[in-house]
Amino acid sequence: NEHVIVVGAGIAGIASAIRLAIKGYEVDVYEANSVPGGKLTEFTNSGFRFDAGPSLFTMPQYVDELFRLANKDPQDYFRYKKLDVVCQYFFEDSTILTAWSDPDKLAKEFELKTADTKQSIIRFLKKSSKIYTITHHVFLEKSLHKLSTYFTWSTIKSFLRFPDIDPFRTMNKANESDFQDSKTRRFFNRYATYNGSNPYSAPATLNIIPHLEQHFGAYFPENGMYSITSSLVRLAEELGVHFHYNAKVEEILLEDKKVKGIQMKDKSVYAPHVISNMDVWFTYNQLLKGVKKPDKILKQERSSSALIFYWGINKTFPLLDLHNIFFSEDYEKEFSAIWKHKTIYNDPTVYINITSKYCPTDAPIGTENWFVMINVPANIGQDWDVLIAEARNHIIEKLSRILKADIGSLIVSENVMDPRIIESNTFSYQGSIYGTSSNGKFAAFLRHPNFSSTIDGLYFVGGSVHPGGGIPLALLSAKIIDESFSTCK
Ligand code: FAD
Repeated sequence: NEHVIVVGAGIAGIASAIRLAIKGYEVDVYEANSVPGGKLTEFTNSGFRFDAGPSLFTMPQYVDELFRLANKDPQDYFRYKKLDVVCQYFFEDSTILTAWSDPDKLAKEFELKTADTKQSIIRFLKKSSKIYTITHHVFLEKSLHKLSTYFTWSTIKSFLRFPDIDPFRTMNKANESDFQDSKTRRFFNRYATYNGSNPYSAPATLNIIPHLEQHFGAYFPENGMYSITSSLVRLAEELGVHFHYNAKVEEILLEDKKVKGIQMKDKSVYAPHVISNMDVWFTYNQLLKGVKKPDKILKQERSSSALIFYWGINKTFPLLDLHNIFFSEDYEKEFSAIWKHKTIYNDPTVYINITSKYCPTDAPIGTENWFVMINVPANIGQDWDVLIAEARNHIIEKLSRILKADIGSLIVSENVMDPRIIESNTFSYQGSIYGTSSNGKFAAFLRHPNFSSTIDGLYFVGGSVHPGGGIPLALLSAKIIDESFSTCK
């Protein structure tokens, strides 16, 4: 059978391998780390289990689709449940707002806890749904880099309705005109961070994201986020995909503008198709020797990064849920610190994910596993050790104040992840967690395509290329390249 090589076992690399194995190709995945998953991995410390990266699971249908394509029942591999409460929001004035998955309950909650009305929330969600209807087919599920995409009726209809997707003002401007209360505006502005962007400069088109969460729902995989990786690797192996770990690819070999194979430290492997799941910036700068780089694309502003403290907490907090947000009092200043000054704000918005709420074995009895994350700038050589020490103090002060407990004294185990570690562990340029940012109006068109227009047999998948970062979009990148391969006899 024809041979395909995948560079990297991130979620998009694994999904690509599955899709091509189903089509009859012989697929080998070469992964630099000793485990699969890239950003989607897990670890344990002192009896606490942590998902290392993603914590919010949306659009599970894209994972299920892979099992169905292989004629398997997804339930035999991977189970998840829909959340009734998507997230608990905490404000400094003691307001606690529950983000119900039910839109009606959500709207009532806003009416009860903020100055905004139920109708204003319902109106907003309708607008969000409309943006999805206009854009999803063209901007998310198709290549924007093939002429055939533009010559379909659905694309033409989408472009005719372009002004309705609200691309000409920022997300914050739109939300300021829709809502009176700063709490409501912060709530909806925060969705820009779902792809590492800044609501004060990203187009209001990103108001599509609340629809994805509210309409399609948020889910919890029964055995934690890592089970997305482990169940897909199991499926891939059953389909005959070979995974090679501790196998860093050093070069993609080319001949006459065609892919010839890959070079590792001690061996070469030959194949006519190579799919790079490595960040596109590193693919050009490390793997493709003597190839002209798409400078304009590679210079795109990167998404934000993350600082995460993984704390074992020697107490349980009934007030907290699976997902919790502790808002900054001045959201605009926080984003200005991250994006303009490339630093960490002294009152950051703190996110806490506690999987032991749903999966009790993730923490010893009477304790909780806290994944405590703040948004930080991409790594451009800041003095991270100093910034991290300051941020740790600010986070502990904020949480102690709002939760009325001495959080510092409850920490019994600690691990830290910062932009430098994200960059070195997963080869994400500048430690960005979602590839490029969506801060510009035309960001969607400036992501790298899923295939090379100059080198035959070279493909790109994952969060750094079209259609963008986050698990659902990374999975869609694999779906887009799948369409370029015919069934192999
Ligand atoms: P990556 O995960 O980037 O993996 C790439 C893989 O390729 C790595 O394993 C790397 O080792 C390997 N590799 C690279 N170069 C080579 C080479 N030369 N040779 C061999 N192997 C190589 N998304 C969500 O949907 N929800 C969330 O809540 C969420 N939160 C996040 C929180 C954090 C802290 C982070 C870091 C990310 C988060 N994301 C979230 C984003 C999501 O994790 C990513 O968009 C997605 O996992 C990216 O997958 P990928 O396929 O691009 O590959």
